Amino acid sequence: MSISENLTEVRERIARACERSGRSVEDVTLIAVSKTKPLEDLLAAYHAGAGDFGENKVQEIVAKHPQMPSDAKFHMIGHLQRNKVKQVIPHVVMIHSVDTVRLAEQIEQDAAKAERIMDILLEVNVAEEESKFGFRCEEVEAAVRQICVSPHVRIRGLMTIAPFVDDPEENRDVFRKLYQLSVDIKKKNIDNVTMSVLSMGMTGDYEVAVEEGATMIRVGTGIFGAR
Ligand SMILES: *Cc1c(COP(=O)(O)O)cnc(C)c1O
Repeated sequence: MSISENLTEVRERIARACERSGRSVEDVTLIAVSKTKPLEDLLAAYHAGAGDFGENKVQEIVAKHPQMPSDAKFHMIGHLQRNKVKQVIPHVVMIHSVDTVRLAEQIEQDAAKAERIMDILLEVNVAEEESKFGFRCEEVEAAVRQICVSPHVRIRGLMTIAPFVDDPEENRDVFRKLYQLSVDIKKKNIDNVTMSVLSMGMTGDYEVAVEEGATMIRVGTGIFGAR
């Protein structure tokens, strides 16, 4: 199937998941994860209506973003080294993968220099997998309280990469936990923090993620094919 046909199918599945869970499709942003894919594939997706792109390497974002139409938005979704923050800031609307307070402090410094306010998500390793980056659930509130004082960083919510599983139902509990954590933190009414974004769900499990409250889903293979 073509990229355009894939996008149509993903959108239909999102719509059905929204219907099942009484949500509005406008509340779910589809991020087309275009890592490793050539510019022509991103353009095909753009012309089929994709407006948000997810990449996990700074070099790729820096190379692709300036070549895309100016209203295409890029999201940094991969592990970010502090020495690359400065490079990526001009090219992205959001950094989903903030996994340490030190990284957030670096973003504060470089965003201030660039005279920007950077929207970020805190990455949470809900399933506590050894191989994954991110805060543990019980560390998130303290991190939010440390980061929220930074005027050039705005915490918009949480992100998780769920485990790789055969049956997406196995990840329902992970998505529920992240949702609940965001609700708990929202209740604390912390200054400069919104918790309006939940970035969760990938090709294998985005429908379950939508049912459990995802507001951003990150789909690569389901749109662009295998990498
Ligand atoms: C690659 C990637 C995705 C997309 O994965 P697919 O299974 O191809 O949909 C989503 N999120 C992150 C953080 C990724 O690195």
